[in-house]
Amino acid sequence: MIIGVTKENFKGERRVALVPASVSALKKLGAEVRVEARAGEASGFLDQSYIDAGATIVTDRTDLIQSSDILLQVRAAVANPEAGQSDLALLKENQILIAQCDPLSDPQKMLELAAKKADIFSLELVPRITRAQSMDVLSSMATIAGYKAVLLAASHSPQMFPMMMTAAGTLTPARVFILGAGVAGLQAIATAKRLGAVVMAYDVRPAVKEQVESLGAKFVEMDLGTAEGQGGYAREMDEEFYRKQRELMLEVIAESDVVITTAAIPGKKAPILVTEEMVQAMPAGGVIVDLAAERGGNCELTKAGEEVEVHDVVILGPLNIPSEIPRHASQMYSNNVTTFLKSLIKDGQVNLDLTDEVLAGTLVTHQGELRHPLCRQLAN
Ligand code: NAD
Repeated sequence: MIIGVTKENFKGERRVALVPASVSALKKLGAEVRVEARAGEASGFLDQSYIDAGATIVTDRTDLIQSSDILLQVRAAVANPEAGQSDLALLKENQILIAQCDPLSDPQKMLELAAKKADIFSLELVPRITRAQSMDVLSSMATIAGYKAVLLAASHSPQMFPMMMTAAGTLTPARVFILGAGVAGLQAIATAKRLGAVVMAYDVRPAVKEQVESLGAKFVEMDLGTAEGQGGYAREMDEEFYRKQRELMLEVIAESDVVITTAAIPGKKAPILVTEEMVQAMPAGGVIVDLAAERGGNCELTKAGEEVEVHDVVILGPLNIPSEIPRHASQMYSNNVTTFLKSLIKDGQVNLDLTDEVLAGTLVTHQGELRHPLCRQLAN
């Protein structure tokens, strides 16, 4: 059984799907590991480290794809709409592709791809159950994004984060407000605290109050009730709810030097929670980092992929943040993929057990059909 790892070809992508440290685990599963030349270079993993770990380096990408029983990528299908096409054209019957494919954004594309009769697993769909935590790429990448968002804010802010008592006087700490305290938000809180900021946070799921406080941040109380939906996620609320939330947040944002927004509803556009009025109310030199930019943004002035300055406030709408910390993002992704493969491979062979909740929940196309229920529903 051959497991192939290609060099990512999505524009600006610096991660790699498998790092050298994971090669031995795949070999123990009975696989031969082939890696495209320079696949790990942008994340700091040179070809020689793959060779030292027991993998083979392949220079011909087409040959690598065609000879692999299992192909590992970071971004494929809908998540790599342009450059990824040539790879998809090479997929063949019974071949397995494991990647982040973003299938729910373009289920029609996945329906077309089903005709290839390959098994496509999309790792963003890993169910959020305890057993699957070690395969959860969304959590891994959100951890990186939350951390990096704070660093971006700090480097764009005209002030330092910690309080400092110096011979040149006392410097007051930065006030940082984190909106949305899921995986990314909690990591942003922890990072801002480490940098010495005064941190406040809010989430529509009251259950996170304790987690926010355990990180040393203040949970902002808003009399809005819960918006907790299924599986511990937030559910979409009506416009009246969001209007009231915006009204209550105005005061907090007006007193914040930095606002980091991470609010998201699974499968939906991100809610607009930060208005131009709030941006105008922020102190001059304020910074907003909108981690929801990829999904429409939480701030109405965010421009995805751009840095804009409005009312003396810098608003960043970064895209693909995990690729900016490629070494650790690749390491986490690689560990997630390796654990996933341990469920898929038994005795040196692919063993697709469709009664396994994780494998079944992640499988998008199988035997010529679009298999994932939500994807199928959206495609019809
Ligand atoms: P997400 O990226 O979908 O959303 C980020 C946060 O935004 C969430 O905390 C959400 O409540 C919040 N939000 C939505 N609307 C908001 C609004 N109007 N105002 C303020 N905040 C708003 O979520 P996520 O970070 O991927 O995960 C969130 C939940 O999933 C958490 O409960 C987490 O513990 C759980 N989870 C479980 C597992 C597991 O068991 N394997 C893995 C990861 C996450």
